[in-house]
Amino acid sequence: MENNCIFCKIINKETKAEIIFEDDKIIVFKDIYPKAPIHWLFVPKKHIPTHMEITEEDKEIMGHLHIITQKVAKENNINHYKLIMNCGYEAGQRVFHIHLHLLSGKIMGEV
Ligand code: AMP
Ligand code: ZN
Repeated sequence: MENNCIFCKIINKETKAEIIFEDDKIIVFKDIYPKAPIHWLFVPKKHIPTHMEITEEDKEIMGHLHIITQKVAKENNINHYKLIMNCGYEAGQRVFHIHLHLLSGKIMGEV
């Protein structure tokens, strides 16, 4: 838990979100400003600020994040999606608690 981190507050239920899925390591909720018909955020419960700060000890969490992304997509009949993780302000990161954006529900072009 990091003070003033909006995603830690969602994880701790201090801030509301439309939660899709949750287990002991991951929470999935709807993005508040969706950029596609389906725009969900897949968030490790551990507060890791950016992709550059992932360490060896996070290997299991990061693998689990991808397995859960695939499982939640399948369970919701989502069979095509784009995954994005912004790293750093200049790349568009605004919340400094790592998260995967899952975008779907429309035809999307190349990156
Ligand atoms: P990024 O720019 O990659 O850091 O992505 C942050 C995302 O979090 C943006 O798409 C925001 O719309 C989303 N966001 C910010 N605050 C909330 C919130 N309280 N609930 C849900 N999504 C949020
Ligand atoms: Zn956090």
